[in-house]
Amino acid sequence: MADPHGEDDSPETRTARLILALRSQGVTDPGVLNAIERTPRELFTPDLFKERAWEDSALPIACGQTISQPFIVGLMTQALTLEPRARVLEIGTGSGYQTAVLSPLARLVYTVERYRTLMREAESRFKILGLTNVITRFGDGGEGWPEQAPFDRILVTAAAPEEPKALLAQLKPGGVLVAPIGKGPVQSLRRYAGDGKGGFKVELLGDVRFVPLLDGVAREL
Ligand code: SAH
Repeated sequence: MADPHGEDDSPETRTARLILALRSQGVTDPGVLNAIERTPRELFTPDLFKERAWEDSALPIACGQTISQPFIVGLMTQALTLEPRARVLEIGTGSGYQTAVLSPLARLVYTVERYRTLMREAESRFKILGLTNVITRFGDGGEGWPEQAPFDRILVTAAAPEEPKALLAQLKPGGVLVAPIGKGPVQSLRRYAGDGKGGFKVELLGDVRFVPLLDGVAREL
């Protein structure tokens, strides 16, 4: 249906517009774009913001956290260079949106969140979408998931104050970790690629704004 400004704002058009915008900003991997296109972001946004679900912006969710901007989700997912057999660890489930984008691109996605409320809400969304390869955990993701390590890929969706050594140690040789690193409001998105000899090649992917990775689990719900 046409809106007063003459723009066609059907869900299909909004989706197509977002995919085009991501592509023009450098998210070109067809698998990643396909996963974003098929993940209903409105399911992950609070009622107040559902109208804006297909805009390329971060939005507030419960517990003072945010659902990431689709471009950043695309950029980080693309930087992971996923393979269908990969076991992936994600730190910071939040709304579960990034997890749902990872799900069709990997064999198993392990995701950790320090707010129980967010974890439960995300779990109910994974159930609605029938995502059977997502394994959730309420806990402090800064420590990784030692019982399930090592992982082929690790994605940190909260800002680590410095190089996340505990997480790098849970990466398989030749694995890839993507994380925003920095203490301030703007962090540097880094990609660590294991060289197979215990070292890493580090690549800077640009400036990003993430909520901080905090120690321990949240005492509030
Ligand atoms: N990937 C999310 C973005 C979430 S924002 C999405 O797509 O919606 C970052 C999340 O990291 C928040 O939910 C925050 O509670 C969580 N977080 C911060 N520190 C953490 C920690 N140490 N362990 C687990 N989760 C953490």
